[in-house]
Amino acid sequence: MNLNFHINFTHKYLLWVFYFHRQTFDSMINKWFDNKVIQVDEINKDKIDWLRIIPFIFIHISCVAVIWVGTSTTAVIICMLSYLIRMFAITAFYHRYFSHKTFKTHKIIQTIFAAIGATATQRGPIWWAAHHRHHHLHADDEADTHSPRHGFIHSHMHWFLKLKNFRTETKRVKDLNQYPELRFIDRYDIIFPIIFAILLFVLGSFLNTFYPSLNTSGWQLVVWGYFISTVLLSHVTYCINSLAHVFGSRSYETDDDSRNNFVLAILTLGEGWHNNHHCSPGSVKQGFKWWQIDISFYVIKLMEKCGLVWDLKYPNKRLLKNKLIGGKV
Ligand SMILES: [Zn+2]
Ligand SMILES: [Zn+2]
Repeated sequence: MNLNFHINFTHKYLLWVFYFHRQTFDSMINKWFDNKVIQVDEINKDKIDWLRIIPFIFIHISCVAVIWVGTSTTAVIICMLSYLIRMFAITAFYHRYFSHKTFKTHKIIQTIFAAIGATATQRGPIWWAAHHRHHHLHADDEADTHSPRHGFIHSHMHWFLKLKNFRTETKRVKDLNQYPELRFIDRYDIIFPIIFAILLFVLGSFLNTFYPSLNTSGWQLVVWGYFISTVLLSHVTYCINSLAHVFGSRSYETDDDSRNNFVLAILTLGEGWHNNHHCSPGSVKQGFKWWQIDISFYVIKLMEKCGLVWDLKYPNKRLLKNKLIGGKV
């Protein structure tokens, strides 16, 4: 053993470490920023790709930063607005428009809400619609991707963490896949929450400088307006796949376990009328009775009055009557 050997060995070892970590780093960054690089093989398809989901874990942990950034009325208002606007983009557009085509709109409105929906960090519109259409085809049967019959946690979030569900299955969404701008948003979806967080930082810094009495800051608005708001928004949305197939009442006979749940309907701006929705998925409104509050539908109606959307589809009354359980709701 001489000195040369040690130097040679150390040199090769360092090169290997650098090369190995470089590969891991590159692969991690690519996986976060480009959904097309995800490879799914038969052996690992049911496993979680931990490198890929680091941002998902990071969003949850980052909420703890509220200890350091503090709180203010402004931050809480921004958190609520961020929740409501993005929830509307998910329920009215990702769900009722992209997935079910329950109304029509201009291409520009379609693109704007596809981008706003992407800031909710629930992937892109094509991925979202592809999985959701699959859910309606197989609701609560063996092939359903997120039925609570296969485990509550699985239906809530485990299903989308699995490697096999990362890729966008385009065969069910050819109508959406024809738009290059939607394909772009879908492929690089992580860019949109990053831009949103940067805008919140700029807004918070501006308010801190010019309106110091509001007692807010760039980081405070990022934590409240993005991290906390996104975690709330995400888990409430996931509840439609989990809780809304377990807890609540059933008004209509459907081939699944879907339920109507008042609390979820309020929190999701109308999506909690999930049994109604499974009975008539092509309907723009999900609250069929006057007391079934459906805020997304009210906003869509308002947009119709402004000429931003049109051709709203409503449930077939005869079909609803035939499927009614016990003769009355
Ligand atoms: Zn469902
Ligand atoms: Zn649906």
